[in-house]
Amino acid sequence: MTTPARRRPPPPQLAWLAAATAGAGAVLAQTAPALTAVPVVRRAIFPRLTGLGRPDHVALTFDDGPDPASTPQFLAELDRLGWKATFFMLGSMARRSGGLAAEVAAAGHEVAVHGDVHLSQVWRTPSAVIDDARRARDTLAELTGTTPAWMRPPYGTLSGAGPEAARRAGLELVLWTAWGRDWRAEATPSSVTADIGTDMVPGGTVLLHDSDCTSAPGAWRSALGSLARLADVWAGRGWTVGPLRDHGLRPGRF
Ligand SMILES: [Zn+2]
Repeated sequence: MTTPARRRPPPPQLAWLAAATAGAGAVLAQTAPALTAVPVVRRAIFPRLTGLGRPDHVALTFDDGPDPASTPQFLAELDRLGWKATFFMLGSMARRSGGLAAEVAAAGHEVAVHGDVHLSQVWRTPSAVIDDARRARDTLAELTGTTPAWMRPPYGTLSGAGPEAARRAGLELVLWTAWGRDWRAEATPSSVTADIGTDMVPGGTVLLHDSDCTSAPGAWRSALGSLARLADVWAGRGWTVGPLRDHGLRPGRF
């Protein structure tokens, strides 16, 4: 299974720089390089974009699916844990995956837009960025019967057209608070759990991947294996787990 790019995400501060430059105004664009390098500061400036919601709740999200080779295993584990999650899907993956997108939605999970193809917006023309968001939204709405509410672009990078593409498609942009670096060949359930713990804060949004279509082959097993461990960690903090729709994000602002 291939996608046009197998590059990994840029360092978080670069993603934030791209987001700030694109959508947060000239003043922030000038000051963002320094400010967004400090997690606590970027969370304060961009609470919605960083996925900060109810402090007793974890928003659990998966990117890059749906994938017949791996997504069903995630659905089974989420069912075992009693969790619902948000799946940021690729339109191209959904079209080639039979009824899997509909199966995810029918299981009570939330389907959101990652993109139509897995290309960073910064390498694409504004019209391509806008068309990509619309095509992915339309594909996922048709396949699941529900219009998506959220968008997280590939690599978390936003071009100047990114916010406009989301607005025209009726989608709210959400990135993440903590990620598991689960795309790496050397990732393990233990490393994923530890990496999420490094950046996680109350009310955070967690990024994992339910497909290896842009990752090391089989890397999704590290994310899958981390879920039971994360359940113990989060239960110990008194946090519940669910999709973004239940996270209490305030729409319409970064
Ligand atoms: Zn991705």
